[in-house]
Amino acid sequence: MTSYDYDLFTIGAGSGGVRASRFAAQLGARVAVAEDRPLGGTCVNLGCIPKKLLSYAAHYHEHFEDAAGFGWTVPTPSFSWPALIANKDREIARLNGVYEKLFTDAGVTLLRGRAKVLDPHTVAIGDQQVSARHILVATGGRPTKPELPGIEHAITSDEAFHLAELPGRVVVYGGGYIAVEFASILAGFGAEVTLVYRGAQILREFDSDLGATLAPEMAKKGVAIRLTTRITGIVRGAAGLTVSLDDGTQLAADSVLAATGRTPNTAGLGLEAAGVALEQSGAVRVDADYRSNVASILAIGDVIDRVQLTPVALAEGMYVAELLFGTRRPPINYESVATAVFSHPNVGTVGLSEAQARARGAVQIFRSRFRALRHTLSGRDEQTMMKIVVDAATDRVLGVHMVGPDAGEIIQGFAVALQCGATKSQFDTTIGIHPTSAEEFVTMRTPVTFLPGPAS
Ligand code: NDP
Repeated sequence: MTSYDYDLFTIGAGSGGVRASRFAAQLGARVAVAEDRPLGGTCVNLGCIPKKLLSYAAHYHEHFEDAAGFGWTVPTPSFSWPALIANKDREIARLNGVYEKLFTDAGVTLLRGRAKVLDPHTVAIGDQQVSARHILVATGGRPTKPELPGIEHAITSDEAFHLAELPGRVVVYGGGYIAVEFASILAGFGAEVTLVYRGAQILREFDSDLGATLAPEMAKKGVAIRLTTRITGIVRGAAGLTVSLDDGTQLAADSVLAATGRTPNTAGLGLEAAGVALEQSGAVRVDADYRSNVASILAIGDVIDRVQLTPVALAEGMYVAELLFGTRRPPINYESVATAVFSHPNVGTVGLSEAQARARGAVQIFRSRFRALRHTLSGRDEQTMMKIVVDAATDRVLGVHMVGPDAGEIIQGFAVALQCGATKSQFDTTIGIHPTSAEEFVTMRTPVTFLPGPAS
């Protein structure tokens, strides 16, 4: 039998790569990981974690405003961007250390450098060559910018986390996760933010009530939203940036943030030379077991064309570790992946949108809009929206969607219910927790609409 240096060689120490490597080592495999950047990948360094810390920070703005209604007198607060960034960086450095310790404790060898696949069982890291029975590509993705004149003046989320100072006027380009999150965060710090989006409604890929509810709520918090509009050019002048739009108008800005999607990190990895087929997007093409067309090379996380979310990469990492060194797990159910968008207010969602559900059959829609109890005293005019999509034939709940404070925290529990196949009647017999916003999900009784499915 051929002997290899390692049973598993993982390229990339992000969420998926770390999880797969640790689990494989715990199952007895000899594992090495190559990484040339800080450990933890996008989520820890340039994504979920620093973004959530910034989001917490930005929320204080309205907490200070809301405090007066509850009897508090708050002296005029001031905000230091450099202090926040320094504190955030310290926490990220701590997490980088935690990840290193996870490897040490699990007996995983960490190789610092950029890896290149030489053949189906060989990887080079600098001058070193290593052989492995299996190679796992977990290199993630990176932000992309659209091609337009002056785009070199635009930053992406990568740079936004390390700006030396808070820009006063920001144009955010895009209408997806990163655009609405950063627009909210920067507006929370007092920046003048304009979100420019080419489509008719932000968060296009979600249930349409989410974007429709979120846009006016963001506007109330100071984000100017320009829909069905494209940026045609960016020019740098003495007074900052001038952003030209396709409706003929211009915006003055100190910073333009392109939040226009991410692309898989496969360039320069040697994959094609090793015979690995890629999708047109550059993603590694994999089968249901995350194997590429070269059986010994697998890929997980943002480098494949599935769902770009950390918990999904973690699940894929565990699946692959078990597949290679343990017992095969049940396949991941990509349909009921819950997710949150940390816009202000938050969005939480799981399951099918109304449109997706209607394409499959008749549905009942339950929807509630209300002002949360907190705002009776804060005076803030913020609407919470909750929606349940139900299969009219089986009573099964197909989708649960929310815009409002802590939507992600609330939706997580409902994701378990959907995973278990809960019906609307079971929602109805669940006793609510009073007074919460979440109880609304178990007290909505009257459907707002019954919609027949597609004509057959
Ligand atoms: P998204 O795919 O969510 O959004 C990209 C946006 O950019 C869309 O509105 C899209 O418009 C627009 N766009 C794309 N190409 C162009 C172009 N050439 N010109 C103008 N506009 C364009 O990507 P993000 O970058 O926001 O995020 C990437 C992924 O990262 C997300 O899909 C998500 O999986 C993950 N993520 C998750 C987060 C979370 O869990 N909270 C937070 C941040 C990111 P259109 O709709 O018309 O295609």
